[in-house]
Amino acid sequence: MDGAAAVGWIKVMRSRVGWIVGEAQCLRNYRSWRLPKTFTNGDHSMKKLSRREFVHAGVLAGVGLAATTRMPGAGAALAAATPPAALPSTFSLETYAQRSINYFERLVDADGLPYFNVFWSEPAEAAHDWPCLGDVMPRQLEAAVMLRRMTGIGVVTEPRWRSMLFAHLHPHDGQFHRPARSWQRAKVEDAALPLGALNAAALDGDGEARKAAVKMAEGYLRRLQDRYLPEKTFSCFAVKSLMVTARLLGSDAALAAARLLVERHVVRGRAFNPDNTFGPKAHMHGNLKAMTGVADYALTVGDPVLYSRMDALYRHVKSTGTRFGFLPEVVNWRPSDMIASETCAMMDFAGIGVTLANHGHPEYWGDMERLARNHLVESQVRDVSWLQSDDVRPDTQQFTWREIGPRIVGAWAGWSSPNHILAYRETLNAHWGGPELRDKIRLLQNCCGGSGVHALFILWKNAARFADGTLSVNMHLDKRLLEAEIRCEQPYRGALRIDLRQGCAVRVRIPEFTEAGRMRLLVNGQTRSILQHGLRSGSLLGDSWQNEKSGPPAAEAVGNFLELGRFAAGDRIEVLYPVPVVTEEIAVGNPGFRQWHYRVTWKGDTVVRLEPIGNDVKTVWSDFDKMDREVFYGEEGPGALYQREAMLRESSLADAPLHTDDGGLDLWQIAGRVS
Ligand SMILES: [Zn+2]
Repeated sequence: MDGAAAVGWIKVMRSRVGWIVGEAQCLRNYRSWRLPKTFTNGDHSMKKLSRREFVHAGVLAGVGLAATTRMPGAGAALAAATPPAALPSTFSLETYAQRSINYFERLVDADGLPYFNVFWSEPAEAAHDWPCLGDVMPRQLEAAVMLRRMTGIGVVTEPRWRSMLFAHLHPHDGQFHRPARSWQRAKVEDAALPLGALNAAALDGDGEARKAAVKMAEGYLRRLQDRYLPEKTFSCFAVKSLMVTARLLGSDAALAAARLLVERHVVRGRAFNPDNTFGPKAHMHGNLKAMTGVADYALTVGDPVLYSRMDALYRHVKSTGTRFGFLPEVVNWRPSDMIASETCAMMDFAGIGVTLANHGHPEYWGDMERLARNHLVESQVRDVSWLQSDDVRPDTQQFTWREIGPRIVGAWAGWSSPNHILAYRETLNAHWGGPELRDKIRLLQNCCGGSGVHALFILWKNAARFADGTLSVNMHLDKRLLEAEIRCEQPYRGALRIDLRQGCAVRVRIPEFTEAGRMRLLVNGQTRSILQHGLRSGSLLGDSWQNEKSGPPAAEAVGNFLELGRFAAGDRIEVLYPVPVVTEEIAVGNPGFRQWHYRVTWKGDTVVRLEPIGNDVKTVWSDFDKMDREVFYGEEGPGALYQREAMLRESSLADAPLHTDDGGLDLWQIAGRVS
């Protein structure tokens, strides 16, 4: 970055800081604003805001009909976050989180309700469906809280979603009651997603959400104990949310509800096979979300057998996907050549992966870093040039056609292939959807919208941790903690830089593609040696080499970490290593059906090229639609992924903007470090 560019960048960042301060005030103001509730026939109905009221409430900015007026903020921030120089940036998860602001604020109706369906019709359209209110909205609210903590930027739809959530909590049972609409029947929702949103808001300092979360858990326990409700009404989908309410909000009812679900479905039931594989018709997102919750429960109550089962199941999941994070949406289900990866499943893979890695399985940090650098971020919608919109057709209550392409930039894939944002053209007909939704090609399922940002947050929170006077760099990702700033130049160079803000011990994971003997350590520019025998002084073999030498103690390889020693505030630590370029051939596909082959070029932990091998088939049989359907496993298809040739070259890098993790909203460090 040259001097003029740097000055411009500093100005931009100053304006961002000013805006963030202003926005924090706005958010506080929004918190005090509540929708009046109407209560009819035991059901909460949300008061529909007029456009004027909506604007007055400060929630517009890109929302709803012809919403072109924007508060200074998120959109501007998105542009400002791109460094002015032409240099590529370091890899920061904050950058991807910011890109979702556009989608969170714009792919909603005039009331702020997100759309579940996006169809690849001509013109493209987004439509409401039964998951919009009780699924998509709370996922996006939870993600908005996470995004704000991760970037310092508030999503302007967040307060609207909060009001919407509270407007549907029944004052008697604390549950989320979904009212009937033309596209949905009335239902008491499973607590999982609304409770997740309440937990996030509560841990973000929202006292009303804290009370509502505890009340929801108490009401949910009563539902679980209701002998008139069949057990199959529930699953372990809610266990992670319940465990957060139990551990971090102090709810005994939440722990009791989690125990009941785990006993019923995992210990005595058949949520998973006895040999720790998935049973028939397994849904990857559902199973992984259950595993994330059950692992949390097992650690909390001290059940090593249950915890070990979750580890075995995690390894089973790995056997169904690829090293770059592609996971099949369904397992043991489709008698078909069609296979696709869902962002929701990647979120939960991150949830169980970091839980295991934090508690006795540091060998899984490599999986998490490859997920972060590859299929997760590639599943964020960027290129929409292939989508046609009708920008003049007015919205109906259920549908919108305007600017669908621009509005979904920053959304997350519901059915990606390894190399395209969509794996196949297929309808909803086999599963759900009223007549108005039939025969339309599904492009996005927006459960994945909140889940994509949630996944980024999980990986960001766990990329590096500071505890008990020790900084642990688990993934070689850019991260700013109160105690240190970490920068990494992968995949361009194997160079990790740590600037310490306080004195502490430091440990850095050894990437799987290298070894301690190939790594170099510099402290304030001076080389330090690295021991590789893995034995500490005072070990069974007596005093180590370092006790016989004068000068600073050497760094030491212990397991898959380098224990670098203790350092002072202001010290700069650099870890250098080669980043090899290697190629492997992989295949994805349902067992017993066509396998789709790819040549994957890795540079360190980053896929820099993904080439289909002989996947020229244009159509295959859809067991859902009962007809041949177009598929996108070859060169041609919408939204090409892994356009990363530039990463094969050497380049100087600009530091991506980072936001400091203050340590809050940490849902994945459950007990003391086991390893
Ligand atoms: Zn999803």
